[in-house]
Amino acid sequence: MSIDEQEIYREVRSAIADTLRISAQQVTPDALLFHELGAASLDFVDIEFRLETHFGIELYHGSAVDRIAELLAPQLLEEQGVLTPFGARVLRKRMPEVPLERLQPGQPAAGIEHRFTARTFLRAVAEVLKARPRLCPRCSGLDLVIARPSVLLCQSCGTEVRCPTGEDCLQQWVADFAADDKERAADAA
Ligand SMILES: [Zn+2]
Repeated sequence: MSIDEQEIYREVRSAIADTLRISAQQVTPDALLFHELGAASLDFVDIEFRLETHFGIELYHGSAVDRIAELLAPQLLEEQGVLTPFGARVLRKRMPEVPLERLQPGQPAAGIEHRFTARTFLRAVAEVLKARPRLCPRCSGLDLVIARPSVLLCQSCGTEVRCPTGEDCLQQWVADFAADDKERAADAA
């Protein structure tokens, strides 16, 4: 983990520990939140809310897998309830923190949250923070503070700077994936 990631991870770890009422030591980067730490679906809402408040960001709410499937249609991520080879490829790229054996073609497509770990939240937060502007587009000032979710305020000139949301980042990721995948297919042909 980079220094930035370590900082995000610390917050992710305490958000998970506090929500699940366990000690922070029990939360390791790769522990499965459902099966090993006893999380329920509703806990994810609380963990997300806490991270959004802390970092002044908006994560993608709802099923990212459904949204990705929608954006990549008509290519199918799942067929008859199981991951297609394409679906496995997409999700492996999107969720590099999940061991490959948990994202195999033919495995059940539902229950992706059963593969979530602290690293899943770390990745989601890091993606949105990375997309944030570093300097003010008007005065190039570097002193940007959180005004409200997804909005920074330039302390030098008072300009409000909009930041990409989780939804924006997800769309961008899918666009990049599709372009890359097309290129690879063309190279293979
Ligand atoms: Zn400014």
